[in-house]
Amino acid sequence: MLYDVKPEVLLGGGSAYFLGKDVPGSKRKDNQDYIQLFKDAGYKVATNKDELAANATADGKLLGLFHPGNMDVTLDREFLKKGTVDKYPNQPGLVAMTKVALDRLSKNEDGFFLMVEGSSIDKMSHPLDWDRAVIETIEFDQAIGLAREFQKSHPDTLIVVTGDHTHGVSIIGTVDDDKPGTEMREKVGTYADAGFPNYKDENKDGFPDKIDVSRRLFLNANNGPDHYETFRPKMDGPFVPAIQNEKKEYVANEQYKDVPGAVFVQGNIPKNGDSGVHAVDDVVLQSVGPGAEGFRGYMEQSDVYKVLADTLALGTKQTN
Ligand SMILES: [Zn+2]
Repeated sequence: MLYDVKPEVLLGGGSAYFLGKDVPGSKRKDNQDYIQLFKDAGYKVATNKDELAANATADGKLLGLFHPGNMDVTLDREFLKKGTVDKYPNQPGLVAMTKVALDRLSKNEDGFFLMVEGSSIDKMSHPLDWDRAVIETIEFDQAIGLAREFQKSHPDTLIVVTGDHTHGVSIIGTVDDDKPGTEMREKVGTYADAGFPNYKDENKDGFPDKIDVSRRLFLNANNGPDHYETFRPKMDGPFVPAIQNEKKEYVANEQYKDVPGAVFVQGNIPKNGDSGVHAVDDVVLQSVGPGAEGFRGYMEQSDVYKVLADTLALGTKQTN
């Protein structure tokens, strides 16, 4: 589909789907080399953030594939160096990718459409890794900030921010290590007792300087597999809440059992599921710019597209 559409700029992970099945690590079922096909179609190819920067403002089409699977998340990529960052140390982040896309696409005098997905918010919500999901949300917010800066000098830009679904999760308060008691649940502060978390951002990069502070956000899911709740950020890499037993059922990952204060949480979804699931809550949509007035009240998700189509005047005939 991507090759048929041939967008001017295409950046992300998933290179395993672009290489023929005989290439080690390929996830294709055929032998098509889509990287070569894109190159033959005139694309420059970038595989790390240096190559992305080198192609930041060049003309022509750009394919950036920075990881064979899912790109590492900000917490691992920029701060903890966990996940697969040792293997792929030079991955760009969402803000850098958004910047390159805007710089290149905005050269088109006829305008452009850019879709930026903060996809790892979802990808870290599935394994109930709330610290990573929250950090991804901050990064997504910074990508929106970049778009709003762009809009200041290009006021004919419509920005639409929404989600394609929610997860069954909420912030319910804080965990405070300094609260008395031995059970971690006694250290959970709710309502006014939650207070504020004590993250610091001394270098003003918008991210907490460290996430394992003594009074931290407490998020909780309303669904998931059997797992251990540790009440702490996962400093060794993304959370793997459940693993398969010999009957192919997902059971709580014992790796977290001995974290001080960890408690067993009984799952409430079928045992063939290894992670939390999407929820059907209404999602928030925020929009600013020409056409934004088309978004109001309660809307069906499929009607969002109609506002975009109207704003871009799709389907209208040009008459001279
Ligand atoms: Zn998902």
